[in-house]
Amino acid sequence: MHKLARLDQKYVWHPFTQMRDWARREPIVLARGKGAVLEDVRGKKFLDANASIWTNLHGHNHPKLNAALQRQLKKVAHTSALGFANEPAALLAERLVKAGRGSAGASPSRTKLAKVFFSDDGSTALEVALKMSYEFTRRTGRSRAPKFLSLQGAYHGDTVGAVSVGHIDLFHKAYGGLLFKSDKVMSPNCYRCPFNQAKPERADARVTRKCNWECVGKVEAKLKQRKYAAFVVEPRVQGAAGMIAHPEGWLKRVAEAVRASGAQLIADEVMTGFGRTGTMFACQKEKVAADFLCVAKGLTGGYLPMAATLTTQAVFDAFLGEYEEFKTFFHGHSYTGNQLGAAAALASLDILQGSESKMKRRGLEKQLRDELQTLWSLAAVGDVRQEGLVAGVELVADWRTRAAFPLKARAGIRVCEAMARRGVLTRPIGNVIPLLPPYCTTQLQLRKMVKALRESIVEVLGETGC
Ligand code: PMP
Repeated sequence: MHKLARLDQKYVWHPFTQMRDWARREPIVLARGKGAVLEDVRGKKFLDANASIWTNLHGHNHPKLNAALQRQLKKVAHTSALGFANEPAALLAERLVKAGRGSAGASPSRTKLAKVFFSDDGSTALEVALKMSYEFTRRTGRSRAPKFLSLQGAYHGDTVGAVSVGHIDLFHKAYGGLLFKSDKVMSPNCYRCPFNQAKPERADARVTRKCNWECVGKVEAKLKQRKYAAFVVEPRVQGAAGMIAHPEGWLKRVAEAVRASGAQLIADEVMTGFGRTGTMFACQKEKVAADFLCVAKGLTGGYLPMAATLTTQAVFDAFLGEYEEFKTFFHGHSYTGNQLGAAAALASLDILQGSESKMKRRGLEKQLRDELQTLWSLAAVGDVRQEGLVAGVELVADWRTRAAFPLKARAGIRVCEAMARRGVLTRPIGNVIPLLPPYCTTQLQLRKMVKALRESIVEVLGETGC
């Protein structure tokens, strides 16, 4: 075993990992990367097919990002935002507000995104939005004890507030006693829709009834029951729920219902932001204007942990007052507004907003759509979902009944292990295999990613199902 692998096994506790399993085999120790390729300490190369847990945008070791960081390092790496401003954070805040407004439709100015609160990661970006929305709702007199509404299967991070609006029992149930109560509502998961299952991809799919937007009706009914501070949602695709791509039009309908109820909309774009779903932010695909836009992961192009919560002038104003009124937003982190992170983010936005990246993403998206078609013929493939450059392939024990593999069968894990043996890295979500290629992925590399997935499904689960 490589000495670094041994050191890791001796001292490191890995996230979301059964460490008994981890100790059973030599871990891959990654040492370097270039573009979509990662290399381990033994020199074996892998394709980064989930963009290092959905963070990387333009590839590893990108010359422009490296140069921006080197320029910034010659000045200073970090200064505190508690009491001081800094150049890259100020520039970045302006860029984010402009990008966040995008084509989010004509909205009155006080409800347009106008302010940026920086933090460290996706979870903290959500915590900030939750606290701001809660306090805004109380201060504006809408409700004394407002609650939050989020989707079945929601995942918004691992800090206690973010977990409180999460609804994945496997992750969240154990901590029930620590959490505040939030309400959940049906997710628009067409593949497992109890009302119609009207997915058109398979000729023999069980189309039992026409879709009547029952899922929207469920949200509307919930919104009538109480005065929520906010509806928290990942727009267009629920990532950790299993790459659940929402049907076109759901977001717009739901956003209108939220607005009509007087609640706020918290858009968790931690996974969907920065071009992943096609537009800069997923909300913009349906011209939806959120009151909070939470971003992290791809903000720095996948280089550094940094996050931001964008919000409106109206929310900001609710925290204004004389010093001794103590209306201040009492929240912040040591690395808030980190200069290195902001410098990386500015360079990443330059690349992302350039025409070359836009064209490349469009081409990749189409190729991914075409390549994924080759998976439908496999019996263990129940569903293939894609939204922009986010794909999820759901493995099932029986595609006719859509019966899931029991988690104990570790079908997703075993398929991903077989993919790693073929030089392609991704991490399963239960029995869903995500593919989120970095935007620099070449045609050949993308073909190899899908081919490795196909071969691995056949190797582990057979061609005709078992
Ligand atoms: N929201 C979403 C949609 C996420 O996918 C994640 C992380 N996978 C988070 C929040 C939490 O982000 P982080 O891990 O950076 O805290």
